[in-house]
Amino acid sequence: MEHRKLYSITLVLLLVITFVAIFLQFFLLERTLVLRPGDTKYVSAISDQSNGGSSVARVIEKDGKWLLACHIIASEYSWPFCEISIGFFQAPGSQKGEGIDLSTFSSVHVKARYLNKGHESLRFQLRNFNPAYGRLDDPGTWKYVGIEYWPQRSPEGNDIPLKSLQVATWWIVEQKLPIKYAVPEFDNVMMLELATGNNIQPGEYLIEVEYIQFNGKYFTNSQILLFLISLWVSSAACFLFYSLRLSYKQLSETEKRAEDLRQLNQLLNVKTKELKNQAERDPLTGALNRAGIEKIFTKELEVLSLMFIDIDHFKSINDNYGHAVGDEILKEFSKLISQNCRFTDFLARWGGEEFLLVCPNTSLSDAYELAQALRRLIRDHQWTNNIRLTSSFGVAQLGDESPTAFIERADKALYDAKVRGRDQVVLSKSQT
Ligand code: GH3
Ligand code: MG
Ligand code: MG
Repeated sequence: MEHRKLYSITLVLLLVITFVAIFLQFFLLERTLVLRPGDTKYVSAISDQSNGGSSVARVIEKDGKWLLACHIIASEYSWPFCEISIGFFQAPGSQKGEGIDLSTFSSVHVKARYLNKGHESLRFQLRNFNPAYGRLDDPGTWKYVGIEYWPQRSPEGNDIPLKSLQVATWWIVEQKLPIKYAVPEFDNVMMLELATGNNIQPGEYLIEVEYIQFNGKYFTNSQILLFLISLWVSSAACFLFYSLRLSYKQLSETEKRAEDLRQLNQLLNVKTKELKNQAERDPLTGALNRAGIEKIFTKELEVLSLMFIDIDHFKSINDNYGHAVGDEILKEFSKLISQNCRFTDFLARWGGEEFLLVCPNTSLSDAYELAQALRRLIRDHQWTNNIRLTSSFGVAQLGDESPTAFIERADKALYDAKVRGRDQVVLSKSQT
C-alpha cells in the first residue's frame, strides 16, 4: 500500500517538474547579453595593416555609440578591411584560453550602419577557440564563424539567427581543417568582430554601432531534454530497484512462514506419535503395556513364541527396602531384558512384576534357550542394595489358538515354575 502511494506521489512530482521545466524553457528563462559602449571594455579597431595592407581604422565612443572611422586604401593585400573588435578573452575572471559560452543564445540583434554610404555590406563574425585544432597564442587559428549582410535594409537593426552563421571557407582551406571540426561553434567565443564587407572599395567610411544584443535561453533545449530524460530514467531505475527489493523481501517472508508451518507440523507429528506411544507404553519401565502388546498379536506371524516372566518373592523386596527400591528394580529388570533379547522381540509389562516377552520367528526351543539365558542373567546381575533376585519363566509357542488362550498357556507354565520351586523355566506343552 505504502509502495503504491509513494509511486503515485513520485509520478505526480515528475509530471509537475516536467511541465514546469518545459514551461520555463519556452516562456521564461530568457537571457540576453548586451554589448554597448560604456559597459563593454575591450574594444579596438583593426585594419588590414595587420596583414600587410595600408588601410587605417580608428574607433571612438560618441553619444553612447561606437564610431569606426575607416580609410580603405588599395595595396598589395587583396582583401582590404576595417573592423571593430570586441575581446571576451580579456574579461575579468576569465582564464587563459577561456572565452564566453554563447551556445545557449539563438540570435543576435546588431544595430549598426554605415553613416556615409548606402549600399555596403557588413561582416558579423564570432571567433571561437578550440584547443583541438587551434592555438591560444595564434588568433588566426580561432575559428571564423560569420555572415555578411546589408545593414541599410533594416534601419532598426538586424536580427541574425546564430544558426545562419557559417564557418569561413577560406579559413577552412587555410587551416586544412578536418571535416569534423568544420561546423559552427559558439561555446568558447574569444572575440566578436564587425567588419567591412568583402567587396569594399577604397575610400572613407564611417560605421556607427549602437549595440549588439544576444538573445536566447539559459539552457539549450537539448540540456532540458537531457535533464528530463535523466530524471525519468533514474526515477524508474530507483523504483525498479525498490520494487525488486520489496518482492524479494515478501518472498523470503512467505518462505519463512512456510518453513515455520512445516516445523510446527513436524512438531505436531512428533507429539502425536509420542502421545500414541505413551498410550501403548508403561510409564515406569518404558516397556509396552497390555494395549501395546495386543497390537502385536493382530499381525500375522507364523512362528511366534512367548515367555511369561515373574520376579520371585518381589513382595519381600518392597517390604524390606521400600516401594521406591522396588520401582528401581522393576526399571532395571525391564532394561536388562530389553538389552539382552533381539531387537525384533517385544517386551511388555503385563502387570505388577510380571512381564511378557513376545518373540516373533522363534521356535519353542530357541525361546527356551533365550529364557534360560535371561534367567541366569537376572540371577547373576548386580542389583541395587546387593539384592539377590531370581525369576520364573513360562514359555509357549503359538498354536492354533486365540491370543488369550496362548497367554493363559504361558501363564500356566509360569505357575508350574513357581510351584516347582522358582528360578526356572517351564515349557508349555504344545497345542498342536
Ligand atoms: P512370587 O514369587 O509368588 O511371585 O512372590 P511375589 O511376592 O513376587 O508375588 P506377589 O504377586 O504376591 O507379589 C507381587 C508384589 O509386587 C505385590 C506388590 O506389592 C508388588 N508390586 C506390584 N506392582 C508394583 C510396582 O509397580 N512397584 C512396586 N514397588 N511394587 C509392585
Ligand atoms: Mg512374583
Ligand atoms: Mg506376580
